[in-house]
Amino acid sequence: MIDLIMLVVYCYKYKMNATRKTKILSGYKNRYARQISMPAIGLKGQKKMRTASILIIGAGGLGSPAAFYLASAGIGTIGLVDNDLVELSNLQRQILHTTADLSRQKTISAAEKLHALNPDITIRKHNQRFSPLNAIQLVKQYDFVIDATDNFQSKFLIADICHETRIPYNHGGVLEFLGQTMTVIPGKTACYRCIFQQPPEEHENAIPRGPLGTVPGVIGTIQAMEAIKYVLNIGNLLTNRLLVYESLSTSFRDVKLTRNRYCPVCGRK
Ligand SMILES: [Zn+2]
Repeated sequence: MIDLIMLVVYCYKYKMNATRKTKILSGYKNRYARQISMPAIGLKGQKKMRTASILIIGAGGLGSPAAFYLASAGIGTIGLVDNDLVELSNLQRQILHTTADLSRQKTISAAEKLHALNPDITIRKHNQRFSPLNAIQLVKQYDFVIDATDNFQSKFLIADICHETRIPYNHGGVLEFLGQTMTVIPGKTACYRCIFQQPPEEHENAIPRGPLGTVPGVIGTIQAMEAIKYVLNIGNLLTNRLLVYESLSTSFRDVKLTRNRYCPVCGRK
């Protein structure tokens, strides 16, 4: 009699587990139905995105749209590096944060929004400033890096560390009504230092100019697309090209680049 009860309990548990798995799978297929329906992605591509990890350095104007789109697309692990607090002047462009988030850690505020959008993914909060002390250890945990920073020091550091670790990255930058972006496959395509060899002088008390929030909106979205294309291995990456977005004339310029043999990072001389 006891054996019979055990058997019934076992069958019940098995059935419940199977039902739960079916529900999760159908939820998964439903969430990503529009993506899975495209032959270039399909279930196989969706699985690639689920197992991919992307590091976004900066949870501000560029990082916000990049993170939103990567989370909605189902990138399984998103890392966010930022040690700033949300300020009132951030809100015209940093759309991950709201008025209720003022004075909160940006990584915490961002992670909440991304989890609300997609609870199935992992958000890793790196509540620290990206610096030479932690850069390698952070970057090497991920498949692809998005430079969503707002200062030259970090941009050059990202270029150097990604070259050293051979982790591909996308650079993004904005100023007033202009934006620019390029993707780098270290050792193979032109890098950030091939073009901008040394950081320009930054004045400590300079008043930041812009940007209008829509400009990082456009560039950050392209950055997310570059990461997704890299993960799926589809299309042509924005390599050996610097895409310049001029929002006032609504024009995109494609500046062709070649590797600089005298580049201080990837040069062969
Ligand atoms: Zn280079």
